[in-house]
Amino acid sequence: MESKCMAAFSADGIIKHHTIQRRDPKSDDVVIKIEFCGVCHSDIHTVKSEWGPTMYPCVPGHEIVGHVVAVGKKVKRFKVGEAVGVGCMVDSCGKCASCKNHEEQFCERKTVFTYNSTELDYKTQTYGGYASSLVVKDKFVLKIKKNLPLEKVAPLLCAGITTYSPLKRFKVSKGKKVGVVGLGGLGHMAVKIAKAMGAEVTVFSTSSGKESDAKRLGAKHFLMTKDPQAFLTAAGKLDLIISTVSVQHDMTPYLSTLKKGGTLVLVGVAPEPNHVHAFGVIGGRKSLTGSLIGGLKETQEMLDFCAKKKVFSDIELIQPSQINEAYSRTIKGDVKYRFVVDLKSI
Ligand code: NAP
Ligand code: ZN
Ligand code: ZN
Repeated sequence: MESKCMAAFSADGIIKHHTIQRRDPKSDDVVIKIEFCGVCHSDIHTVKSEWGPTMYPCVPGHEIVGHVVAVGKKVKRFKVGEAVGVGCMVDSCGKCASCKNHEEQFCERKTVFTYNSTELDYKTQTYGGYASSLVVKDKFVLKIKKNLPLEKVAPLLCAGITTYSPLKRFKVSKGKKVGVVGLGGLGHMAVKIAKAMGAEVTVFSTSSGKESDAKRLGAKHFLMTKDPQAFLTAAGKLDLIISTVSVQHDMTPYLSTLKKGGTLVLVGVAPEPNHVHAFGVIGGRKSLTGSLIGGLKETQEMLDFCAKKKVFSDIELIQPSQINEAYSRTIKGDVKYRFVVDLKSI
């Protein structure tokens, strides 16, 4: 079936109107009419080939929400008319230890990502959610509770799960002190989710204008990282840091704000390697680790947690024709706090 979409055709990253073919639905497929799709910085890294060569045309978008318009005959979990979401993955082997442990993002054979990836046949290119429709295996479709603001739910499918997963893994609960580096799409979700889990949140930012928003979103402290004094103020205070920075930077000063045994989790993926001095981790025996989205079971758990706690994304809704401008503004850190594309009439 034909799907109208927005695609990049080269590493200049310029997005234009395009049309692609989606596969004919199989017995275990769900056909979704897409309504909204969030704009993740990963979309920007990918269309510009910043992480290596991208397959063009590239239809980005992995924060997808919409309604079911058809289901294959073996599909029991979904009915026509239900609100659903799709995140960063659309398939995996289903048989390896990671898949059996509900960590499809680490499939030992192949995780099929929503765009700029190939299906399990290693040939058929995948196309993401800046489009009118999507055909997805039912296992990779998430349920969205009734009567939620779908445009504000969309960013949970990547920004939400990417921050929820390490916050949960490191057992954030009442009284824990959590740092969030970068107040963008992922960062603002990290603040909201950590706060909803009971943490005391400190935001590290390069943008002085974001202080009042950080506090409104749930942060107790706001530190400007251009001021070296900021790191002294917070020295040795935090249990956990989630770093969402999308550009190369020195992680050592952030490590100094952790308590003994504390952990810095990198989720931001700068195209160039970040720096870290050994002194950052040896004193206080600190850990530096990373985290990649989250499995389907955990993504559903996160969606249900956010619905219960009324945690949604702060968004700027745009039309498809505004995507290129939205990319430029995201690169400048000028978004409050996630662009979401309205695809209802693409
Ligand atoms: P975003 O909305 O652009 O936010 C990134 C934030 O980083 C900016 O808002 C800015 O916050 C901060 N920043 C920008 N330049 C900086 C600099 N020079 N030094 C320090 N901080 C700077 O991007 P996003 O969509 O949240 O994505 C963030 C990163 O996570 C991207 O690299 C993306 O590819 C990656 N990502 C990873 C996963 C995963 O599974 N690990 C999933 C999704 C995305 P301030 O203005 O507050 O400084
Ligand atoms: Zn993303
Ligand atoms: Zn697998």
